[in-house]
Amino acid sequence: MIKLNKSKIPKILIDKGIPENNKNCLDYDEFPDNFKTGEQKFKFKNKIYADKTTIKEQLKTDQNNKCAYCETKYELMFGDGDVEHFRPKGSYKQERDEKLNYPGYYWLAYNWNNLLFSCERCNRKHKGNLFPIKKGTKRIANHKSLKLENNEDVLLVNPYFDEPDEHLGFNKNIVYGKTEKGKKTIEVLGLNKPELQEKRREYLKLFQDNFSTVSNNIFKNKSLISKTPVVVYKALKKEITKSEKNIKAFKSDKGQYQLMIKSYLKTK
Ligand SMILES: [Zn+2]
Repeated sequence: MIKLNKSKIPKILIDKGIPENNKNCLDYDEFPDNFKTGEQKFKFKNKIYADKTTIKEQLKTDQNNKCAYCETKYELMFGDGDVEHFRPKGSYKQERDEKLNYPGYYWLAYNWNNLLFSCERCNRKHKGNLFPIKKGTKRIANHKSLKLENNEDVLLVNPYFDEPDEHLGFNKNIVYGKTEKGKKTIEVLGLNKPELQEKRREYLKLFQDNFSTVSNNIFKNKSLISKTPVVVYKALKKEITKSEKNIKAFKSDKGQYQLMIKSYLKTK
């Protein structure tokens, strides 16, 4: 997970999202108890919050075509990826094995700051409706709360608002939590599940191979021994340029698993 920046709010969220949200808040005000028991549920319109040509595309661009959480490339994802609500809109859970609590953060269903692009693995298989907050702290219950969302003590790193490397670190391809929030994030998103560890291991191997390319190509090339210094210099320079170009591509935010790559480079 790396730090992300959000672009301008898409027009559809203003034109259609705001009226829809106002309607939901009025419905809640009318029958709050029905919503609290889950007897009455909101009907959220994914044609608005997950609009393919606006919201989804814009989020993908903001995130360099990667999952906001695990940094898997869109092209390598299983499925088409999801527009995911950081704070679950319909219902939430503090712990994985507890029952759903109602309502969720319904007033943030069409809120640009609450939307991310995520792979189905992170969103559906692991996070789901889990949204843990620090024990003993208060959760925002409805749209009338005076407490702002960013003051809630959430135990899940949001790459748009947090600095992921303050909470998450890497030992080779294994991610570890530097804080309570980091540890819980790994658990909620399954960031150390074997299949993801394996993908990161392969990527790191490819990256490391680029480091050794230069020395291998130069020192194993025996024909260079008899050549003049100028020829050797040119061959060396060519290999270094090629390797530098590859390393730059690996280090770019567009590359996969950048927090791991950055952590790896710090150890060099
Ligand atoms: Zn993911």
